[in-house]
Amino acid sequence: MTSAPSYLFYQSRNPRPFLDRGEGIYLFDEDGKRYIDGSSGAMVSNIGHSNQRVLAKIKAQMDKATFGYRLHFRTHPSEDLAAKTVAMTPDGLDRVFFVSGGSEAVESAVKLARQYAITQGQGERYKVISRFPSYHGCTLGALDLTGYAPLREPFSPMMRGMPKIGAPATYLDRSNLSEEQLGLKYAELLRDRILEEGPQSVLAFVMEPVGGASTGALVAPDSYYGRVREICDEFGVLLIYDEVMTGAGRTGKFLAAEHWGITPDIVAMSKGFGAGYAPLGAIIAGARLVEPVLDAGGFQHGFTYAGNPLACSAGLAVLEEMEEQKLIENAARMGDVLMAELQTLMDQYPFIGDVRGKGLLTAFEFVADRTTMEPLNPKLNAYDRLVELAYARGLIIYSRRTRGGTAGDHFLVAPPLIITEDQVHELMAILRDALDAFAAEVGL
Ligand code: PLP
Repeated sequence: MTSAPSYLFYQSRNPRPFLDRGEGIYLFDEDGKRYIDGSSGAMVSNIGHSNQRVLAKIKAQMDKATFGYRLHFRTHPSEDLAAKTVAMTPDGLDRVFFVSGGSEAVESAVKLARQYAITQGQGERYKVISRFPSYHGCTLGALDLTGYAPLREPFSPMMRGMPKIGAPATYLDRSNLSEEQLGLKYAELLRDRILEEGPQSVLAFVMEPVGGASTGALVAPDSYYGRVREICDEFGVLLIYDEVMTGAGRTGKFLAAEHWGITPDIVAMSKGFGAGYAPLGAIIAGARLVEPVLDAGGFQHGFTYAGNPLACSAGLAVLEEMEEQKLIENAARMGDVLMAELQTLMDQYPFIGDVRGKGLLTAFEFVADRTTMEPLNPKLNAYDRLVELAYARGLIIYSRRTRGGTAGDHFLVAPPLIITEDQVHELMAILRDALDAFAAEVGL
């Protein structure tokens, strides 16, 4: 089946088998081989595959109307999904704008920030500070904010080049500071950069509250989050949380921001929001930001498919399922089980230098030396090899190179939020087997 000719292309040629079907945390290829979806695809399939209750609700909407343009009709699925989203989101975030994916969400967030600034007589603010490494999407505007070298470099002359500050990769920081001091140290990078750029030119700061593909589930010390909020307030800089990966319960709260009691000015969501049942994303902002923009003539932005009833009916069904099955609570509980298991890997495999994450967004990183945290030799292509060894054994995990994308192999383990404790152990048994095979192969 894999040898059938293909007219499709992605980032590279696709050697994978054909997908047949999904069921809960499992996917099956056309030869009947079963895989644990240990990364929920790309941290998308939060409620698992082929949820029949969700499918029935989507089918019911299909029978009524699959598309109704928002300038011609209001639709119940979009209004109801917006209301449900606001109900699940902390106070202060009560206006929703729908999109179809994460890059669209990030770009929409930046454009809303910009239009809001104009209504406040601050049209000179246009710079959006982000972090390096980071990932915020692959359209040229979102790539402006992304701090990931292999994705940026080919297109760099076409981008504006927004200012970047170092991500709080404190596990690589060898200074003798306490956790709290480290958090403050990395937050101060933002303050320094705002001052350097000129506060009157800085529109927003965008950050992933828990890092995704580019940093491997990087969590900053607690002190970082509050200090960043304070710094943004001090200079009137809008704080945008890119919760495309972390939102919709992945980290054990509906928004990761809730772990630190932070209310960002704008939140970008996607991935688990539609959970693979529809291409869906959203930005959520406070009325404080949105109303002045509407009063000034409206948000000059919008995509054809934004808020379409089919995608919104899927999103609504996904959120209802998350509530009914208490999946956010399960993500917190199973996240603890998974994290405890991952930490035991450090005893067994000296080339694992760090284990981190929050809820069911977890990662481990390979190093050559735990004292210096020097990365494993990039020529070993560990990020590729371990994924292949796991895949052959029926486990899908997600890998990237961190540290700007040039070194530092890390692996994301982020199964659907429906996972049970037995299934976490099943996943870990295959992962250990793959790690053993990797260690034997490269002689570690
Ligand atoms: N922002 C973050 C944090 C992401 O993880 C991603 C995707 O991985 C995006 C934005 C871009 O989302 P999409 O691929 O749906 O455009």
